[in-house]
Amino acid sequence: MAEGKFATLIACMDGRVQVPLSEWMREHLQVDYVDTITEAGPEKIVTQGTEAQIAAIREKIEVSVNLHGSANLVMSAHHDCGGNPVSKEQHLKELAQSVEAIQSWEYPVRIMGVWVNEKWEVELIHDKPYH
Ligand SMILES: [Zn+2]
Repeated sequence: MAEGKFATLIACMDGRVQVPLSEWMREHLQVDYVDTITEAGPEKIVTQGTEAQIAAIREKIEVSVNLHGSANLVMSAHHDCGGNPVSKEQHLKELAQSVEAIQSWEYPVRIMGVWVNEKWEVELIHDKPYH
């Protein structure tokens, strides 16, 4: 097991979201490191991606959970997303569906769904403890 406390982040590749999400997680989850899985519009990939795209995401989650002992996974969506240019309502719908999909994969982790707003602030929308 790697030293230090890790958490897992699924985020857009958009450079504007990485720092706020990472800082929010280190502060709220008291972790040392954030393993970041990036896609362009990740909530679209998790809900509508190909089998191969989903398998690639799961493989990375497994590295973070199994090798780094992550117990917290944050699924994120954000304002002004070029990879998934839909309304805020649709982003939030896909975020909720993504959280449900990730829950169905049954990793031993707490799953959070967050929205990065137009001020690049992180809003916690879903919080599903592992049980
Ligand atoms: Zn994006």
